[in-house]
Amino acid sequence: MKSRKRFINLRTVISVTILIGVMVVVGSLLGAKMNRLLIEHMENQVTEQSALLSEQIDQIITIQFVQLGNISKALEKSSDNPEEVLKTVEEEHSGITVGVLKLDGSVLIGAPLDIKEYDGIKRSFRGEEAVSYAKGNGMTFSVPVYHGENVKYVLYKKYDESILSESFGKVYYNGEGQVLWADTNYEVMIPFVDTKYDGGFLEQKEVKDGFEIIKEKMNVTTSASTFVTCKEGRFFLFVSEVAERRIYAVGVVPEAAISEGIMYITTLVLWVFGLLLILFAIITVYLFITAEKAKESEELREAKEEAENANKAKSQFLANMSHEIRTPIHGIMGMNEMVLRESSDKNITMYAQNIKSASENLLELINGILDFSKIEAGKVEIESDTYALSGLLKDVVNMIEPMAQEKGLKLEYHISDKLPSELSGDVAKVRQIMVNILNNAVKYTTVGKIVFGLDGNADGENINLRIKIEDTGIGIKKENMDKLFVDFERVDLDKNRNIEGTGLGLAIVNKYVELMGGNIDVSSEYGKGTTFITNLPQKIVNSQPIGDFMAGADVCRGSAYTESFEAPEAKVLVVDDHQMNLLVMENLLKSTKVQVTLCSSGQECIDHMIRNTYDVVLLDHMMPDMDGIETLERIIEKELKRDAIIIALTANAIVGVREMYISKGFDDYLSKPIDTRRLEQVLRESIPDYKIKKVGIIEDREVQVTEQKCDEGIYIDRKVGLKYSGQNEEMYKAFIEIYCESATEKRTLIESCFDSENWKDYVTYVHSVKSTSLNIGGTELSNLAMDIEKHGKMYLEGKLSELDYVKSKHDDLMRIYDATYNEAVELKNSLS
Ligand code: ADP
Repeated sequence: MKSRKRFINLRTVISVTILIGVMVVVGSLLGAKMNRLLIEHMENQVTEQSALLSEQIDQIITIQFVQLGNISKALEKSSDNPEEVLKTVEEEHSGITVGVLKLDGSVLIGAPLDIKEYDGIKRSFRGEEAVSYAKGNGMTFSVPVYHGENVKYVLYKKYDESILSESFGKVYYNGEGQVLWADTNYEVMIPFVDTKYDGGFLEQKEVKDGFEIIKEKMNVTTSASTFVTCKEGRFFLFVSEVAERRIYAVGVVPEAAISEGIMYITTLVLWVFGLLLILFAIITVYLFITAEKAKESEELREAKEEAENANKAKSQFLANMSHEIRTPIHGIMGMNEMVLRESSDKNITMYAQNIKSASENLLELINGILDFSKIEAGKVEIESDTYALSGLLKDVVNMIEPMAQEKGLKLEYHISDKLPSELSGDVAKVRQIMVNILNNAVKYTTVGKIVFGLDGNADGENINLRIKIEDTGIGIKKENMDKLFVDFERVDLDKNRNIEGTGLGLAIVNKYVELMGGNIDVSSEYGKGTTFITNLPQKIVNSQPIGDFMAGADVCRGSAYTESFEAPEAKVLVVDDHQMNLLVMENLLKSTKVQVTLCSSGQECIDHMIRNTYDVVLLDHMMPDMDGIETLERIIEKELKRDAIIIALTANAIVGVREMYISKGFDDYLSKPIDTRRLEQVLRESIPDYKIKKVGIIEDREVQVTEQKCDEGIYIDRKVGLKYSGQNEEMYKAFIEIYCESATEKRTLIESCFDSENWKDYVTYVHSVKSTSLNIGGTELSNLAMDIEKHGKMYLEGKLSELDYVKSKHDDLMRIYDATYNEAVELKNSLS
């Protein structure tokens, strides 16, 4: 791209240079042409002027002749007294002489004259009025004096050489032009007034050549001029014949005297022309560059389009792949769930537990990529459906609670009871925003609590939901704040290396918030905790307040998986095109003893429903040929539904929404991988009561645990305990028993070490409390023990100030130890 750019620039420079060159050449040719035309024009002007000059000279001569003619006539009439007549011709100037000459050349009266020198005198004896010039002597005007028919004398008037110029020399063009009189041989009669044009000037080659040109022109005309350039400058030369006087008016005028006005206009024209040229050049260059740029940006646009298409294709590919990958993962998870339930081998259970957590992570990752690639491919649109706010919150709480409990974190809810009960918006995305932020809060917090706050600003039909999620976690460094919402960007990896994540959660949140026209704000204190505040505009459908959400919510913290009922008379039809999913479902339902029918297509489902009546149909959404929605449409059309409860099975856990399935005619939905607790809950709600045969002890115990767990101050999380017992009830029971047996003794040892300040043993006992408590699900005690152990070790390593911390926590430790022990005893009794 770079070298191409340089190439373009070089091409531009060359093109522009050539263009300017051409324009300069054209400009100079035009200039030269214009100059020639101007000179021609000025030559014509000078020629006309010279013709006028020759007329003026003719008039001067005529005046002389008229004067002399009058005297001549007077002489004719009084030939006996010629002196008297001649006296009337006053000498006008010294240097002027007058005389009357006889035929033999002698003088009758006045001044004598050497007639050989003046051929004009001879012509006058022949009856002509004549002007003649004798170099060095001067010029004569002569007229005949008649006596009857014959010329008797010649009257002449002579101007000495010295006064010729002064008497007849002429300047014109404001004194800049000069004119001389010349005879037919081009001998100067009256020189220029200004001596600078004498001799030397006229002798120059350029001037002589100029006059040669004029002479040629004079063959066909009586006046002519030409332009010459010589060392004195630029001049116009001209010659004009003085009619019938055998005299030429020869002149010189500097170009400037003629061209003054014209040259100004010329200069102006040249300037304008020059400016036009420059303007033209600039416009051309501009157009050229613009065209190049347009071409370049067209190429860039194309490249961008290509890149975007490639990116879309990539996102599309990722989306397809993620979708395809999820199906086998669900299979793995389902089968693994079977292993967990049915195996009593400790090792196998442990392996299966690992498979479970790894596949949960993998699924989360795939879901993130799927959502993100959908956003990238521009496939995400904000939908608008009516939803119940409490339903949304229930989903969120049910998704987050188990995670928080697993880490021993407390989840506090500050849900405003004034919030409207029904809203309209894209509930799936609102849910995902809440879940992603809450999920992070749990992931990046080790001790303390998470507060989930929700309130809103209602304005007529609209409400701005304000979601505030605070945690007491690791916090975010200031310099990392900007990177939070960047795709695939994870921050503070030194601390987070062991926390699973893709760096997509917040990028997705950010995109969704942006698409919904909301905003998000983060504040954090590194090491102390983080607060995310998100504002989301939604529409109010029903402004009836939701009231105390937590009081009404079916949020059971810590109820572990357990078969809660049996319904051998109930009939359940499972429809899924994946054999493995069918197998998983069959196994999951085994303990409920329901009658299960499996089939793998929509058509088979319809066929079964024609022949049989079912209490519950678990119908997969995504199936080839006829999908779940279409199948349900046909079932309704054919009136096959009857009293059956039809539950959608969807792999799209994030985007799948209850409202959508309900609007399509389903009664509820279950997301895959199937959460066994939810499956049983749904079945229990769907199967008619009379078919349910409750399993007393387990059912009671679960209720009891649920109630306990829903209260504040629960110390044992059965789910965690079961997890560490490989979901094996028997093992869990054994753990509880051992715990109860050893707890009193260990408690006494811890107390005595504290009293005797035996900190080394104290830390060792506290350490063992940490792990044994976690084994039975005593997360709060375990977390506190871990905290005390950490500070105790620091003290033992020499950080003496840490002891105060250990001491300050001792009472709490003992109190929670007692509470946990009491609860464990209760649990032991209820389990046995
Ligand atoms: P991840 O999958 O890594 O959690 P996210 O996009 O959800 O990706 O978050 C990006 C990064 O922001 C995380 O890697 C983490 O470093 C940081 N982060 C997000 N939420 C929190 C939080 N509540 N406390 C501390 N750090 C957080």
